[in-house]
Amino acid sequence: VTYRAGLGLGMASLGFTPGPPHLRCDGCGLVLEAVTQRGGPPSWLLNRKAPKGWKMIRNDDGTRRDWCPRCKDTPAASDGGPR
Ligand SMILES: [Zn+2]
Repeated sequence: VTYRAGLGLGMASLGFTPGPPHLRCDGCGLVLEAVTQRGGPPSWLLNRKAPKGWKMIRNDDGTRRDWCPRCKDTPAASDGGPR
């Protein structure tokens, strides 16, 4: 899973890195911080959607992969990438 939630979402106890929520691209590793300029969670996070321009794929096992605007059209992104 590439999405890592911040402390506020209670994920630290599961071994996630504390800090602001962020999204990491499964293609190039680009990191997008999931915080608005006001410091709150962006609407795409609250709605469990992909950020604008990104592509999110949910797998049957509950994991997800995320692709930044640069990588979303690559062959790897089209099928969710390697399992
Ligand atoms: Zn990327």
